[in-house]
Amino acid sequence: MSHAILSPTLQADHKTESMKALVFHGPNQIAVENMPRPRPGYGEAVIRVTLTTICGTDVHILRGEYPVEPGLIIGHEAVGIIDELGPGISGYAVGDRVLVGAITPCGQCSSCLTGNWSQCGGVPIGGWKFGNTINGAQAEYLLVPYAQANMAKVAADLRDEQVILLADIASTGFSAVESADVQLGDSVVVIAQGPIGLCATAGAKLKGAGLIIATESNPVRKKMSLKMGADVVLDPTLADVTAEIHKLTNDRGVDVAIEALGTQATFETALRVLRPGGTLSSLGVYSGKLNIPVDAFAAGLGDYKIVTTLCPGGKERMRRLMELVRQKRVDLTPLLTHTFPLSQITDAYSLFSRQEDGVLKVAIKTQEPKLLKANNGQC
Ligand SMILES: [Zn+2]
Ligand SMILES: [Zn+2]
Repeated sequence: MSHAILSPTLQADHKTESMKALVFHGPNQIAVENMPRPRPGYGEAVIRVTLTTICGTDVHILRGEYPVEPGLIIGHEAVGIIDELGPGISGYAVGDRVLVGAITPCGQCSSCLTGNWSQCGGVPIGGWKFGNTINGAQAEYLLVPYAQANMAKVAADLRDEQVILLADIASTGFSAVESADVQLGDSVVVIAQGPIGLCATAGAKLKGAGLIIATESNPVRKKMSLKMGADVVLDPTLADVTAEIHKLTNDRGVDVAIEALGTQATFETALRVLRPGGTLSSLGVYSGKLNIPVDAFAAGLGDYKIVTTLCPGGKERMRRLMELVRQKRVDLTPLLTHTFPLSQITDAYSLFSRQEDGVLKVAIKTQEPKLLKANNGQC
C-alpha cells in the first residue's frame, strides 16, 4: 500500500529534476542553464556525463556558421555512467561506464545496413544527432538514442581522459587514413595540424605509413605533430610546401594527401602534391564553392581519387579505438591541454575558439568531484 502511494510521488519528483547544460540561443549566444533532466524511452539510455569536450564544429555552431535550432544543448562527445535505462536494452546495467560516439547510428536503416553508419537515415550527415538535431553532451545528463548500438563500455583501467577524444576527433582523424586505404610504406602528408589533423597524423603512423609529412605554422601544433608521428613538419608561412613535398618524395609526390582544414587553398595544395593515382582524403568542412584546378588534376586523367569521410561512430568503432589506447598503440591525452568545470564552459569556448594559451582540446568536467563515484566500468 505504501508503495502504491510512494511510487507516483517519486516519479513526479524525478520528472521535475533539472540539470545544468550549455544551451545555444543563437549566434554568439550560449549560456549554462537549468534544463530538464532527460528520461529514457524505449531503446534509449540516460548517462550521467563525467567528461565532455568542445569540438571545432561547436565553434562553427556558436558563430552561426552551422545552423542548429535555438534552445538546443550542444556538444557531441561524452564519457559517462549509465544512470537510467529505457526498456528494450540488454547487456547493460545502471552504473556501467560508457563512451558514446559523436555519431549515433540507429543500426537498422538502409544507410546503416549498407555500412554508411554516419549517414544514418539516408540523409547526409544523418548519423550526427547530438548537439545537431537532438540535445547534446555539454550537460550533466545525456539521452543516448539507439543506446544498444551506441554505448561502448570503458575498461576499468582506462581513465575518462584517455578515451574522450575517441568519440569524435580521433575517430575522424584516423578515418582519413582508413578511407584512403594507406598501405605500408606509403608517403602521407597531413595538411593542417589542428586536433583532427594531429589525429590523422597519429592515424598515418598507426596504419604503417613510411614518410609522414605535416604542414602547420602554429608552434604548439608543430611540436605536437612530431609527437603524434610526423617525420617532417613544413611551415606554410616559411616554405613553399608544394615544392618541399616534391623534394622530400624525390619528385614522386605523396601517395596520400589528407586535407584537414577545409579551405580552397589547402585542398589545392593536397591535389598538387599527390602522385598520379594518389588519394586525396578530405576531412575539411568547406563552405562556398570548392574548385578543382584542372592543371593540378591532369585535366581529369590522372587517376586521382578524392574521398571524404564523416566521423565514424557506433559502439564497435568505439570499442576498437579504445583497444588501440588500451594496448598503448596511441596516447591522445597530450591533446587535452586545459580542463574546465561545466559551470565555466563559456570561458573554455572563448579560449578554444581563439586558440589562446597553446590550447588544443579542453576537458570539460561536468560533475563536482565529490559527486563522482569511483569508476566502475567493466570490460
Ligand atoms: Zn566534432
Ligand atoms: Zn541508421
